[in-house]
Amino acid sequence: MNVLLVYAHPEPRSLNGSLKDFSVRRLEDAGHVVQVSDLYAMNWKVSLDANDNLDRQPGARFDPSLDSKRAFKDGRQSQDIALEQEKLKWADAVILQFPLWWFSMPAILKGWVERVYAYGFAYGVGEHSDARWGDRYGEGTMAGKRAMLIVTTGGWESHYSPRGINGPIDDVLFPIQHGVLYYPGFDVLPPFVIHRTSRVDEARFSKVCDALGQRLDELWTTAPIPFRPQNAGAYDIPELTLRQDVVPDQVGFSAHIE
Ligand code: FAD
Repeated sequence: MNVLLVYAHPEPRSLNGSLKDFSVRRLEDAGHVVQVSDLYAMNWKVSLDANDNLDRQPGARFDPSLDSKRAFKDGRQSQDIALEQEKLKWADAVILQFPLWWFSMPAILKGWVERVYAYGFAYGVGEHSDARWGDRYGEGTMAGKRAMLIVTTGGWESHYSPRGINGPIDDVLFPIQHGVLYYPGFDVLPPFVIHRTSRVDEARFSKVCDALGQRLDELWTTAPIPFRPQNAGAYDIPELTLRQDVVPDQVGFSAHIE
């Protein structure tokens, strides 16, 4: 299988750097082909802007969505964007690995998502009409591919527990797992999260690697998070709110998980 690991940490000798190296070895030893997009090493351009469309006209008003749509359709995207899209198309599984920074992904990874997820590629896919809001949330370009997060946090596991002060980790990661990954069609596996990173020493690192190795061995068999597909009847059209009879007492993120 082909695995793309998109990795965002500025220091190769960090915990994240060690875990990335471990993951690549483990996957390759199991016979998989791995490509790593090491965003800091690539000096990845973070900002989505007019330069991402090679056909931009000097002085023309820049429209982030429509410029992206045209450049994607005409094959006139910046080369770095097109290369990452090819890697995504090639991959059977995609892993995003990053330290949790301010309750989300580092800016460089957010910039990868914003630029690589072009209109027509990751959104704006399929029929858009009064009766249908496109192929997304379970359908789309990434349908049939698996995705998983590897995330490290300074905070303790209890801080991210159901009543923890930071909010449950599943809620914190919901915009990434449901928004960035499920939206364009990935089957999203439960995340691999390492909490309280300041307490990682040789002994704990070894245990973390054992657990991570097992998750990587099970990449093809682990059951995905059962997010509700948009176009399978659970949502009223065109409002895209859950039907009255679907978990009527439930609101918030968890209502979108079967
Ligand atoms: P490192 O600091 O590199 O390493 C952590 C520990 O692992 C160290 O003790 C190191 O010695 C050990 N280690 C590293 N490699 C190995 C190895 N090979 N073998 C054995 N031990 C090893 N945390 C939150 O919970 N929520 C937030 O919102 C949040 N926001 C942040 C925002 C910013 C801007 C920053 C800088 C940090 C934030 N943090 C937050 C903390 C952050 O999540 C952690 O600092 C990060 O996850 C640690 O990962 P690292 O790879 O940088 O670890």
